[in-house]
Amino acid sequence: MSRDLQLKLISSTSSTGYCLVLHAGAGGRVEELSLEDQKNYSEGLEAAYRAGETVLENRGTALDAVCASVASLEDNPLFNAGRGAALTATGRAELDAAVMTGDGQAGAIAASRHARNPIHAARKVMEETKHVLLVSPTEELVTGWGLETVEPDYFITEARQRQLRNVRDRLLAGSRHGTVGAVAVDKAGRIAAATSTGGMVNQSDGRVGDTPIIGAGTYARNGLAGVSCTGEGEAFIKGAVAHDVTSRMRYLHAALPAAVAATIDTELTAHDGSGGLIAADAHGNLVIAHNSPAMFAAYRDGEKIITLT
Ligand code: ASP
Repeated sequence: MSRDLQLKLISSTSSTGYCLVLHAGAGGRVEELSLEDQKNYSEGLEAAYRAGETVLENRGTALDAVCASVASLEDNPLFNAGRGAALTATGRAELDAAVMTGDGQAGAIAASRHARNPIHAARKVMEETKHVLLVSPTEELVTGWGLETVEPDYFITEARQRQLRNVRDRLLAGSRHGTVGAVAVDKAGRIAAATSTGGMVNQSDGRVGDTPIIGAGTYARNGLAGVSCTGEGEAFIKGAVAHDVTSRMRYLHAALPAAVAATIDTELTAHDGSGGLIAADAHGNLVIAHNSPAMFAAYRDGEKIITLT
């Protein structure tokens, strides 16, 4: 499979004083989707973009904005996060999510089965516990946080069951579109990043990818950048990809696009890992980059919300 880097740089804070970028997974070529599917993904991304942007417009925090966008995508069964998550080899939905703010706060959950919105649970870990990562938070814990709980079956859709059967019967390569993420910089210059996923279709029960690993799939540091990743999680963990981007900025004084390009080259492409990331720096420059054939994303260009599907 091709591993050519595709990198898009967007400059966006000049007029608004804030910026937001979303992704919805990296994977195969866009032609693999029907026009109808493409339209639905695009509409879902646009609705999620508006949810986050409304927060930022009203002087809300980057944290509230990324959580609003990611929760919207989790509620949409098309995406591999929350309802409609990719299923494990035994047909379970095990959800991972993480959030980080640029002042060094972080929270994450792995193999979550009860919180309707995994991203809200990740935020509760950050705000209400001394921990960073909780595995399999109990229903009682989630209820105690004041969050909505659901039966584990809520997350499972027929489309994902069909996908699992097809992947197991080797009729379909494990297409990976659908993990979701958001990065925002608010009017006060605070940066936040959030990511949510069901993981890789047909993964072993209990497998955890990069999404809830701070520094691998999700990272933010004020003054530098926020990063949310998607792709073959093991490669992102081994390359500490999200942190590597900010380290290049911090220690080598690389600009965001150069840092992202170098990280993808050395930590992903060189090791035959596939995927991509979104990132925003403190100046409002946005980057969408991937070495997979395609990546779903959303950003604003003037009057228009642009969706890549
Ligand atoms: N990175 C996610 C994982 O490895 C999957 C994805 O982004 O598609 O769990």
